[in-house]
Parts: sequence; structure tokens; C-alpha cells
Amino acid sequence: MMTSLPDTLFGIYIHWPYCARICPYCDFNVYAAKDRDNSALQAAILNDIRGHYRRVPQKTLTSIYFGGGTPSLCEPRFIAELIDVCASLWPSDDRMEITLEVNPEDVTRDRLKAWRNAGINRLSLGLQSLDDAALKFLGRQHTAEQGRLATKLALQQFSNVSIDLIYARPGQSSEHWHEELARVLELGVPHLSLYELTIKEKTAFAKQVERAQFIPMDDDAQADLYLSTLDLCAGFGLPAYEVSNHAGHEHYQSRHNLTYWTSGDWLGIGPGAEGKINLDGQRTTTLAHRRVTDYIAAVEETGLGWSEQISLSRQEAADEKLIMGLRSTRGVSQPELETAYGTPLDGEQIALFETQNWLICRNDRLRLTREGWLMADYISARLSP
Ligand code: SF4
Repeated sequence: MMTSLPDTLFGIYIHWPYCARICPYCDFNVYAAKDRDNSALQAAILNDIRGHYRRVPQKTLTSIYFGGGTPSLCEPRFIAELIDVCASLWPSDDRMEITLEVNPEDVTRDRLKAWRNAGINRLSLGLQSLDDAALKFLGRQHTAEQGRLATKLALQQFSNVSIDLIYARPGQSSEHWHEELARVLELGVPHLSLYELTIKEKTAFAKQVERAQFIPMDDDAQADLYLSTLDLCAGFGLPAYEVSNHAGHEHYQSRHNLTYWTSGDWLGIGPGAEGKINLDGQRTTTLAHRRVTDYIAAVEETGLGWSEQISLSRQEAADEKLIMGLRSTRGVSQPELETAYGTPLDGEQIALFETQNWLICRNDRLRLTREGWLMADYISARLSP
């Protein structure tokens, strides 16, 4: 039985673009924090939110997500101001989820308290590993012990804590990973996001691979590790509810991320943030200026930080519904998809995927099996009319 969600999820993603140091695997829109005066950026973010409100006033807010970058570097006072502004503009539903991405080295008892007082009710901790050598390889600032301690402190003040981990690292054996994951699961968090290490273009890791400094794990080994990870987490009571996300109870499934997986509406605020909104029957993407100075200038001139606003075609909007919907165990409604595409899906193809045990079609909903998750891109491409 799935937890019911409001008909439309409406979230606000707020991007803080600075990090203490840039991790070698990261391809997000991030810059080194250094010693900066952030007042102009803070004012721009607040005004961008107000500008978006003028465009989309009639929504009920279901989530706010502070991502980055490292938003745990922001003053808690600023976080509180942002939450207050959002809540003063839009009505919010009584289960509004407000997540802050946090790096372990930023966690102290006082900050946890300040974040809670600001209105944060969910923490996403960038632990990445509980192995010191791996943390060093990943260019992280904290040690395994700091990560463990930060998690314990976070759980004392927040019931809703998620941990991010990166696995399928070069040369990582399944025994080593299972042992590490079991230690993380024993920390008792109700939500995990587990990502296989992928080498993104233009990152420091991409250059290191080019220079043959390390060899990434091959696809077959990654796939084996992925399936055994699903088993291990399910055994600990945290089954996957999405390709990379696990929750101990439906209550802890990330509402904000479900906004993405159910093709809901969200605003993208802050440098480089992307938003997607259905307005007057039209699905529209907005992309904010990536460079901080451009973003600030755009907000000052126009009241909004966009560099681009793109109207999706009917096919593109329906593809989003299919691709994102298949990521989560909720799946996607076949009749809704067919309405979105304006044409029936290929029944023979669906039946074939069912016999291959990649797809389940029940009660008019299409869902991927665990093996299907490994083939998600291929399956979506074949189902798209
Ligand atoms: S802390 Fe996070 S956002 Fe910042 S560089 Fe590292 S991975 Fe990227």
C-alpha cells in the first residue's frame, strides 16, 4: 500500500553554489567558497523566490530542498529567512518536508539546533563512505569517525535523516562494500541514497582516468554490486523505493524527490538551478544562470534568475513522465501515459518486457523490477511511442 500523496507535489529547490573544496567526482554547478561576501547572492535568491511567486502564486507548497554546493555552509539565519519567505508567500500542506543537505564536518550540536529552529525537518548527510582511504580518494573533508559522529548527533535532533554513499569505487570488492554498508545501516538512519561512482566529463576524476591513474569499475561488476546492495538494504529493513533510494518506512520516502519522479512542479532557485512547472497545460523548464555574478545581475534586472525558459513538446513532457515514473516503485499509470502521448503504448513490447521479468503491469500501472532498473534507459526508450 502506497502512502497517498497530494494530487500535485510542488517543491522549491534552492541551490547554494559554494563548497569548502571541490570533490574530484562532482559535476554540479559549484565554486570554491573562499572568503566571500555573500550578501548580494543572498538578496538575489530571496528576490528570485518572490519573482517566481508572481509567476506561480496558486500552488500549495509540499517541500523545500536546500541543495548545492554545500548549503550547510550558509548561516542558519539565512536558511530561516528563506523558509519564512517561502511560507509567507505560498500556503503549505501540513506535511511539508524541508531538507537541508549537510556535510558531516559542518555538524555540531548548536548548528543542528539552529537548523531545527529555522524549520528544517529533514537532513541529508553527505557521508559518502565510512572508510578513511575511500574518503581520501573521493576528496572528502571528513573522516569516517567524523561521519559516524555527525550521523549520531543528527539522529539525536532529527528523526528524518538520510545518508548519501558512493560505492562501486575502483577495486572495491563486494565483501568490502557489504561490510561498509552494514556498518552504515547499523547507524539506524531511516533513509539512504546510494550512488555508484560514475566518471562525469570535465571532472578531476575524468582527467585521472584519461591519464590511467585509476580504472573505474566495469559495468557488469557494478550491476552485480547494485543487485546485492538492494538485497542487503532490504534485509536491514530499508528496501529501495527508487533506483538509488531506500527508506525504512513510506513516511521517510523523500517527498521532494518524489516531486521529480511523479513529474510534479518545482521551482529552481539559485545559480544553475533547474525548475519544471505545468502552467496552463504547458510543461515548462527554467534554467537559472550558472555563474553567480550573472545570476545576481539577472535577478537585479528582471526579478528572476533565469537564463532560459523552455516549453516542452507533448512528446518531451510524456517522456519525462515515463522515464521519471519508472524510477520509483510507485511506477507510472499506463492510461495517464497514453493520454500524455496521445497514443496507446505498444502492448506487445510491454508483454515482452513482462516475460523478461523487467516490467510488471498491474492495475494499469507500469513498474520496473529490480532487473528492470538495470535496464531502465533501454526500457523507457523502447516504450516511448
Ligand atoms: S561537497 Fe558535494 S556539491 Fe560540493 S563539490 Fe563535493 S560533491 Fe560537489
